[in-house]
Amino acid sequence: MYDTISAISSPYGTGAISVIRIDGPKSYEIIKKLTNLDEIKHRMVYSTYIYFENEIIDQVNVVFFKSPKSYTGNDLVEIYAHGGVIVTRKILETVLSSGARLAERGEFTKRAFLNGKISLVQAEAIYQIIEAKSEISLKMSLQNLKGGLNEEIEYYRREILNILSEIEVTVDYPDDIEIDTKNIVKEIFRIKNEIDNKVTNSKKALMLNDGIVMTIIGKPNSGKSTLLNRLLLEDRAIVTDIPGTTRDVIKGEIDINGVRFIIVDTAGIRETEDIVEKIGIDRSLREMKKADIVLFVLDASTGFTKEDEFILKEIENNNFIPIWNKCDSSLKINKKFEDEVKISALTGEGLRNLENKIMSKVKDIVKSGTSSHITTQRQVEILERVNLYLERAVKSLEEGFELDIISFDLRKALEELDTLLGKRFTDDLLDNIFSNFCVGK
Ligand code: GDP
Repeated sequence: MYDTISAISSPYGTGAISVIRIDGPKSYEIIKKLTNLDEIKHRMVYSTYIYFENEIIDQVNVVFFKSPKSYTGNDLVEIYAHGGVIVTRKILETVLSSGARLAERGEFTKRAFLNGKISLVQAEAIYQIIEAKSEISLKMSLQNLKGGLNEEIEYYRREILNILSEIEVTVDYPDDIEIDTKNIVKEIFRIKNEIDNKVTNSKKALMLNDGIVMTIIGKPNSGKSTLLNRLLLEDRAIVTDIPGTTRDVIKGEIDINGVRFIIVDTAGIRETEDIVEKIGIDRSLREMKKADIVLFVLDASTGFTKEDEFILKEIENNNFIPIWNKCDSSLKINKKFEDEVKISALTGEGLRNLENKIMSKVKDIVKSGTSSHITTQRQVEILERVNLYLERAVKSLEEGFELDIISFDLRKALEELDTLLGKRFTDDLLDNIFSNFCVGK
C-alpha cells in the first residue's frame, strides 16, 4: 500500500548531526545496499559507512525500526550523518536514486496516523510540540500527545451513543417501550454542558498558545517605550519577526514564568487636531481593543492629567493595570486606583511587582492550561458543531418531533466527534493538517 519515501528530518544548515529518514517497504533493502551490512537488527545502532558506487559518502550511525514498532508503523530507517549541508544532501540523493521518493511535508506523521499509531488529535499535538513558543503550550501539547484529550472525546462519544441506543430501541419497538423524554433531555444537557465547559476553558488555552497580548498605552512621554524595552531586557525576549510591525506600533515577545506574552507598544494617546497624529492614535486605540491585558502608563512626574482622563474613558477592557511610571523622580501622585503599581521603567524598580500583577491577571488562564485541552481551532469548531446538534436534538424532543429526527442529530454529533479523532476523514482534511508540518516529520 505504501511506497518508500525519504527526507532530511533535521533542520537545513550545518550542525553536529543530521538525520535522514527512509520509510516504507524498501527501506531495509536500501539501507543494506548502501551500507554493505549483512544484517541490520531491529532498533540496534550500527556505526558504519554509506557507499555509493563504491565510494564512501559518509560515516554514519544507522537504526532500523521494524514494522510495526516504528514512528510510522512501517519499516523505518534513520541515518545519523555528519551535519553538513552537502554531505546530508548527498546521502538523501543516494537514497532517492536507490528507489525511494522524496517525502511530502508531514508524510511520516501522516503514515503514523493512517497506520493507527496516533489519532488526529495526537498528530496535531506533535505539530504543536514542535511549534510551542512557551513552556505552558508545550505542556498542553504533551498532555494531548499522551492521549488525555482522546479519552475525553471517546467519553463524549460513548455517552451520546448510549442515548442514541436508548432512542433507537424505542424506534424499533414503539409499542413495547415508553421513552423517558425528560431523562433523555437531562442527559443530553449534561453532556452539552461538559462540552461547553471544555470549549470555554480551551479557548483560554488557545490564548496561551498564541501568546497573551499585552498592550502598553498612555499619553506621550509617559515612558511606554522605555517600559517595553525594560520588559524585553528583564525577561526572556523571544526574537521573532512579527508581521504588521509599523512605525506606530512596535511589538515584542517575552516569556514570564513560562507564559508567552506579546507586548505591543503604541503611539501616545491624547486629544489632537493633527491629522497624522490622529491616525497613530486611532491605531493605538484599535490595538488596545485587541489586547488581553492593557498596561496603562501614567507619569508620576506630572500626576493624573486631563489626558489620562481621556484615555481612561477609552479603556473598555477591565483587564487593565494602572502603572505609575517615573517613580524614581519627584512624585506627584495621589492614589487613584485600587490596584495601581509604582515602577521606574528607567531603573527597573518595581518591575517584579508589575510582573506579579500581570501573572495574577492571567492566573485563571494559566490554570486552565494545565489539564488536557482542545488546542486547535479545528477542534474548537468541531465541538461547537457537536453542541449545535445536541441543542437541536433537545429542541426536537421538547417539541415532540419523531424520534428519527432526534437520532439523526445525535448521529451527526457522533460523526463530528469521529472527525475530531480522525476516525472519519477526507483527503482535504489530512492535507490541511499535514501540509503545515516540516518535510521529514
Ligand atoms: P513614550 O513617549 O511614552 O514612549 O515615552 P518614552 O519611553 O520615550 O520616555 C519619555 C521620556 O521619559 C524619556 O526621556 C525617558 O527617558 C523618560 N523616562 C521613561 N521612563 C522613566 C522613568 O522611569 N524615570 C524617569 N526619570 N524618566 C523616565
